[in-house]
Amino acid sequence: MRLRRKPGAPAKIAEYSQYIANTPEEWVGKWHERFKNSNPIHIEVGTGKGRFITEMAKSNPEINYIGIELQESVIVVALDKLIEEDLPNLQLLHVNGGSLTQYFAKEEVDQVYLNFSDPWPKSRHEKRRLTSSSFIKNYEEVLIPEGEVHFKTDNQGLFEYSLSSFSTYGMRLDKVWLNLHESDFEGNIMTEYEEKFSNRGQRIYRVIARFPK
Ligand code: SAM
Repeated sequence: MRLRRKPGAPAKIAEYSQYIANTPEEWVGKWHERFKNSNPIHIEVGTGKGRFITEMAKSNPEINYIGIELQESVIVVALDKLIEEDLPNLQLLHVNGGSLTQYFAKEEVDQVYLNFSDPWPKSRHEKRRLTSSSFIKNYEEVLIPEGEVHFKTDNQGLFEYSLSSFSTYGMRLDKVWLNLHESDFEGNIMTEYEEKFSNRGQRIYRVIARFPK
């Protein structure tokens, strides 16, 4: 997803620092302080326009959520949703998900969501995939022991790659859905991309992969 540069975005991000930390590296190991509670922390890497993370935060007030997005013009759309909803259990982070250890301490995160990550189909771009080994290593470093990565995509190639990447890394595949929308999975929250692709008749895949103790 590439959105045109939004001229007002940097000013808005600076103005709403209560929702999107201006100096995120200062919050390493202090996210519970920022949320003012000790509830579990779930992060979504590549949160896009933020529908999923906003709806998750509304449905699960006992969980703290952090939506991480690289593109300023995209995260500002998620910020607009958060300003409107004013949710105490949701924060946004405008950083690269490949540098998670700069922003989170060891075991500070309880769960990771990856939704409709960019597929980067060319082999020479493998390292950019959010389910490649260097990203997985970062998730492992910030997650609790036996922490889970929940991954959804419409892209069969990326899904197969990711299943293999998770298991090669030593993660256990706890549950796999080959057609999420035709399954008995309850409480699915659709992302913007999920709605777009499923409206086109694309099948949605999902996996929960877990790190060892
Ligand atoms: N999750 C949303 C959805 O399902 O509607 C957005 C999906 S979009 C295809 C992928 C998003 O991931 C883009 O907004 C992109 O900027 C973001 N992204 C890609 N690589 C990233 C990275 N390394 N760190 C943070 N965000 C990233």
